[in-house]
Amino acid sequence: MSEEDESMSDFEEGEEGSGLDFILSLDDVPSNLPPHLELLKTRVLCNSDAPQHTDTIQYSGAYAALGVDNSLRLDSFCENFKIEVNRMADDVIEFDMIGIDPAIANSFRRILIAEVPTMAIERVYIANNTSIVQDEVLAHRLGLIPIHADPRLFEYPVNAGDDRNEKNTIVFKLHVRCKRGQPRITVKSDQLQWLPNGSELPCENAKPNADSKPKTFTSFACSQDSLPEFSCNPLGPTNPDIIVAKLGPGQEIELEAHAVKGIGKTHAKWSPVATAWYRMLPEVVLLEDVEDELAEELKNKCPKQVFDIEDCGKGRRRAKAARPRDCTLCRECIRGGKEWEDRVSLRRVKNHFIFTIESTGAVPSEVLFTEAVKILEDKCERVITELS
Ligand code: SF4
Repeated sequence: MSEEDESMSDFEEGEEGSGLDFILSLDDVPSNLPPHLELLKTRVLCNSDAPQHTDTIQYSGAYAALGVDNSLRLDSFCENFKIEVNRMADDVIEFDMIGIDPAIANSFRRILIAEVPTMAIERVYIANNTSIVQDEVLAHRLGLIPIHADPRLFEYPVNAGDDRNEKNTIVFKLHVRCKRGQPRITVKSDQLQWLPNGSELPCENAKPNADSKPKTFTSFACSQDSLPEFSCNPLGPTNPDIIVAKLGPGQEIELEAHAVKGIGKTHAKWSPVATAWYRMLPEVVLLEDVEDELAEELKNKCPKQVFDIEDCGKGRRRAKAARPRDCTLCRECIRGGKEWEDRVSLRRVKNHFIFTIESTGAVPSEVLFTEAVKILEDKCERVITELS
């Protein structure tokens, strides 16, 4: 058997993956694309009129004519995928997500906005409201107050919310009065008082029973503050100074607000993020040396100070792209004639995302991202189960 025949028999006997490796290892099969195709595959080109090559090339056989395999391989994904955290505080996290398809980055964004659950006020029982804010407007304002409560410790309400217990409902009370002869007062979110034993308002349609306590809107088996998860961490609004209403002399608000678990897809009040967004990593490339007065002009064109001027000896000065990450793609540097487009190339890296999550404060921002990953994982598992 010749050497070539032996190699081919190895390929035929091997597994599918090793067969591909065998093809890619042959000398006459290129393993990388030519530079011009690699550029179009991996970069969005931002020209003065419009961006170009914004699509991602997914088809495994897209470069078959060149002998290049374009299929997504788990081992190369694992090797290339990276997350680098740049900034982290309670309410905001910024990180670079590298080596991922835009569709997946976008699915994280959408899950963060619409599918990661939080607790929000859903039902408001108004005992008295003589303020100028109508009942429904007051209820809506209360619903939008972020509640500092870990949604993972609660269950979704079932039976259309009729079964309200300590595991699915948080009860707050608000009772404020502005006495006659007093100046106007502002009612703020910190005046919402947590009732760990549940509702105190008697149900109107409950039959009075002399032997027992009047039936209320909840049936808690135990006090929430006796549970270890809440005993050192009282529940309440994340911000104490959100204005709910203003009361004039003689006006009063008395109500009970019940918060339940939900998702942003149902109503924006359950969305855990103020915003979740990303941008592709900017790349600013000087295609030719830009020197002396032109370098100064280029530096002055950029409102984000992306360019610096370096001294290259003998009294000559040259522009360099020192802070490309700060580029906002305003395109000022390529305006002013075709010659500027020939000098500066603005690009975006298609698989590198600068991701920012701003939490409403209900759940820390880094927890939000890990929850989004779990939700996407669950969805993938459901699809696999359905298909198998
Ligand atoms: S596109 Fe705007 S921000 Fe970016 S380098 Fe050019 S001038 Fe600066």
